Amino acid sequence: MTRQLDVVVVGAGFAGLYALHKLRAQGLAVQAFEAADDVGGVWHWNRYPGARCDVESLQYSYSFDDALQQEWVWSERYAQQGEILAYLHHVADRFELRPLISFGTRVTSAHFDAALDRWHVTTDRGDAVTARFCIMASGSLSASRLPDIPGIETFAGQILHTGAWPHHGADFAGKSVAVIGTGSSGVQAIPQIARSAERLVVLQRTPNFVVPARNQPLSDEKQTAWKGAYADYRAQARQVGTLYDFSQTPALSVSADAREAEYRRRWELGGVNFVHAFSDIMTDLAANQTAADFVHARIRELVDDPETAEKLCPRGYPLGAKRICVGSDYYETYNRPNVSLVDLQLDPITMIDAHSIHTSEAVLPVDVIVCATGYDALTGALAQIDIRGRSGAALSAKWADGPRNYLGLMTADFPNMFVVTGPGSPSVLVNMVVGIEQHIDWIAGCIHHLAQTGATRIEPEPEAEDAWVQQVNDAAESTLFVQANSWYLGANIPGKPRVFMPFVGGIGRYRAICDAVAASGYAGFQIANGD
Ligand code: FAD
Ligand code: NAP
Repeated sequence: MTRQLDVVVVGAGFAGLYALHKLRAQGLAVQAFEAADDVGGVWHWNRYPGARCDVESLQYSYSFDDALQQEWVWSERYAQQGEILAYLHHVADRFELRPLISFGTRVTSAHFDAALDRWHVTTDRGDAVTARFCIMASGSLSASRLPDIPGIETFAGQILHTGAWPHHGADFAGKSVAVIGTGSSGVQAIPQIARSAERLVVLQRTPNFVVPARNQPLSDEKQTAWKGAYADYRAQARQVGTLYDFSQTPALSVSADAREAEYRRRWELGGVNFVHAFSDIMTDLAANQTAADFVHARIRELVDDPETAEKLCPRGYPLGAKRICVGSDYYETYNRPNVSLVDLQLDPITMIDAHSIHTSEAVLPVDVIVCATGYDALTGALAQIDIRGRSGAALSAKWADGPRNYLGLMTADFPNMFVVTGPGSPSVLVNMVVGIEQHIDWIAGCIHHLAQTGATRIEPEPEAEDAWVQQVNDAAESTLFVQANSWYLGANIPGKPRVFMPFVGGIGRYRAICDAVAASGYAGFQIANGD
C-alpha cells in the first residue's frame, strides 16, 4: 500500500537532517529519501584530498541546539571533510534521525495530485509514498558534471570527479595525474595530489583568485571563547551569514598605501574575509581592480616561473564574481618540479584517448584524470527529478528560461513544494548552514500555520513570483557578480539559460522579507482548503 506521510524530504545533508528533526518535533509524519548510502550530502560525496570547509568550523555548523554546539569539539579552523562528515553522523545519531531515512534511494518523480492536495513521490527502488508537503533538500551543489570532452569514454585509466570520490580513496603514488578544473575543489585538491603523484599536470580553463586559508589547529582558548558567546555570534550570523570583518570604507577613499596595508593584513589572516576589505569591492570595478592587482602581485611573488605566474593571474572578470577560492599552498605548488600547468585558453583540450589527453599543442600521457569540473548548480538536482505540478506541467518546462519562484522557496503551479537554499534565495552566496536553518524554520512555520488554519494548499501568486524574480535580477544587476561566466549564472553548463540565480541582497534583508511575509499571513501566497 502507498505510505501516507505528512512530509517527504529529498536529501539527507545539512538541510534534510535539520528538516527531519524540526518537522518530527512538530508531530508530523516525515520521511527522507537519500541517494547516498549514508547521511552527509556534499560531505559524504566530496572525499577528495584537501576537501574542507572555507567558512570557519565554529560558524559552519548548526545553531539550533545549544547542547550540540557546546559539546561538539572542532579540531581546526577549517575542518576537513572527514570531520564535518563525522559531525553530521553525530547529528543523525544524537537526534535519532536515521530511522526516518531510506538510504541508497533516489527520488525519480514527484507529481502533485490536485484532487487530494498531495504529492505522489516515487523512487528508483520502487517506493511510492504520498505526502501533503514535499521538501527538496536535494542540494545546490550535488549534481556533479564530467566534462563533455570527445573520447573521454575511451580513457583506459581512472577518471574521478571530486564530487563523487571513491570511499576507499585514490592512490596516486608513481602515477601521472591530470586535474581538469581550478575552482574551489581543484584548488584544494591540486596541492595534495602534487605531493603524492609522480607527475601532475593541471589543465586550467579560467584562472581563479585564490586567497590563502591559513588553516591551523583551533586552540582551546578560541573554542571556549566562541562557545561562551555563541548565542550572540549566532544571532549576528543570522543577519550576515558569516561573521567577517565587513569594512564600511570605499577602496578608493583611502591612500594606495593604506589600501595595500589592509589587503596585506587580511591576506596574512587568511580566508574569504579578504573580499570584505572595502565596502565597494563587489559593486565598483575600479575598487575591485585594486584587490585584483594585489592578488596578481602575490601570485608573481609566490610563483617562481614568470610565465606560469602570468597564466595563473585571473583577468577579464572581477575578483569575487566567480566564487573566490581559499587554498593552502596553491600557488606554491606550481614551483614543484613534478607539476606543470596548461593554459587551456591558449592550448585547448581537443580529445581524450585510451592513455592521453590531447591539446592543440601536445599529447599528455596520464594514468588518472581528476575532474574538478563542478556542478549543474542550484537547479541540477531538481532537473533530475520528474516534478509535475497542479496543472501536470513539468518544473523543467516552467524553468526552461531560468528558475522562477517566490522568495526562492516555492514556485507557482507546484503547491506545497518547498526548495531549500535553491535559486532566488541567498543560497550559495552565504554561509549555507545559516541559510538552511532559516529556510527550514520558515517552512516549518508555514506548515504549522496551514495546520492551524485547516488549509491544505499553499502556492505563490504568479504576480508575487514575477515581482520576486525581478527583485532577484535587479539585485544582481547592481553588482559585479553578473560580469563573470560563473556557475552562479549557469555559464558552466552548455545550453543552460544565463540567469543569475542566487539573491545577492544578503541573508539579513532576505530573512526580514520572509519573516514579514509570514507575519502578514503569507502575503503573495494563495492558501486554500481543498477538503
Ligand atoms: P547537500 O549536502 O548537497 O545534500 C543533498 C543531498 O540530496 C545529497 O546527499 C544527495 O545525494 C541527495 N539527493 C539529491 N537528489 C536526490 C534525489 N533525487 N533523491 C534522493 N537524494 C537526492 N558551503 C558553505 O557555506 N561553506 C563551505 O565551506 C562550503 N564548502 C563546500 C565544499 C564543497 C566541496 C562543496 C561541494 C560544497 C560546499 N559548500 C559550502 C556548499 C554546500 O553545498 C552546503 O554548505 C551544504 O553542505 C549543503 O547542504 P544541503 O543539505 O543543502 O545539500
Ligand atoms: P567550479 O567552481 O564550477 O569549478 C570547475 C572548474 O572546472 C572551473 O575551473 C572550470 O573552468 C573547469 N571546467 C569545467 N568544465 C571544463 C571543461 N570542459 N574543460 C576544462 N575545464 C573545465 O566547481 P568546484 O570547484 O567543484 O566548486 C563548486 C563550488 O562548490 C564552489 O564554488 C564552492 O561554492 C563549493 N566548494 C567549496 C569548497 C570550499 O573551499 N569549502 C570546496 C569545493 C567546492 P571555467 O571556470 O572556465 O568554467
